[in-house]
Amino acid sequence: MRIVSYPNIGEYERVVYNFLDRIIDKDNCKILRPIKNNKKILELGEHASPDNVCTPFKYTIGSMINSLENGANVIIQLGGGCRFGYYAQVQEKILKDDLNYDFTFINLYHGNKIDFVGALKRIKILNPNLSINKVLKELYLTLELLKFTDYITTYIRDNSCYVDDINEIKKIEKEILEDVLNISSIKEIKAKKEEYKAKIDNLLTNKEKKLKIGIVGELYSLMDPFSSCYLENDLIEKGYKIKRYTTASYLLLDKHKSEKKVLKQAQNYLRYKIGADGTESVAHTLELINEGYDGVIHIKPFGCTPEINAMPILKKISEDYSFPIMFYTFDTLNSDTGFQTRVEAFIDMLEMREKK
Ligand code: SF4
Repeated sequence: MRIVSYPNIGEYERVVYNFLDRIIDKDNCKILRPIKNNKKILELGEHASPDNVCTPFKYTIGSMINSLENGANVIIQLGGGCRFGYYAQVQEKILKDDLNYDFTFINLYHGNKIDFVGALKRIKILNPNLSINKVLKELYLTLELLKFTDYITTYIRDNSCYVDDINEIKKIEKEILEDVLNISSIKEIKAKKEEYKAKIDNLLTNKEKKLKIGIVGELYSLMDPFSSCYLENDLIEKGYKIKRYTTASYLLLDKHKSEKKVLKQAQNYLRYKIGADGTESVAHTLELINEGYDGVIHIKPFGCTPEINAMPILKKISEDYSFPIMFYTFDTLNSDTGFQTRVEAFIDMLEMREKK
């Protein structure tokens, strides 16, 4: 029996599960969903990784080790973009040669591009009868599901501050995430989108002015709650209006189309792209200033070069516009309390500015 797993990244693992569930041969293959990132995953990853590698490498390899220890014998690595595009080759070597795990590794990326033909050949071990038409059909549904997930979770993020009882919107979010595991048609996606949007709109009764905080930075820290000490969730629960641009559908479907626009937005500070999402961090901070946000929190994992490049530019923007930006780097030794104290101090300062 093949037992297939994949590294965790936030709630997106549900979309991957949904896709695999529709393509595997269920008589000979089953799916082991990766657990959410936690301290144990990070420790496993840290022990297996080179010291200076960026932190998402550690999370993803830790997640794979945990699945291998729990019986997985096929691992799919989905990463791409920046150094992420080369993680898979190094991780495969570490897992097989250094840690002696015996398993099949399916890497869907070659360099920084999806190798579609190669990927189809490799993924056939999960179902030898899989045709290219079936994969294309299911992939199309998966992309629509990804767009739906991002649309509705972004809508929740943008509007939670206008809800009187945050638990009500949390309940809806939980229902949506459960649905993501089981949705099986475009028709269902459309119906769910309308249903959930209407449910959320019904809750938007609080019209008080809220402090507005943007969150920019590296993609993994932005999209995986544990790796940013649940920053986003914490700000939502405290009732602030928050904005985060980076989502998986933006990275997969829209990023390449937006490159010129993003560079143009950042043109007073940047002439060339600075890698990964560093250019976006600059452009989106300027956009947030224009939109009247009160402050920005820039987050990145240890070792993230593109965001290190963005930081001096953001500091200059902060001086030029007299605009508060807080910087935080997450590494394996982070203390949740230390981080929360920094965030609270930053918010106190934003509130004092607002009162003035
Ligand atoms: S964006 Fe940063 S953390 Fe992500 S792969 Fe690139 S260097 Fe590593």
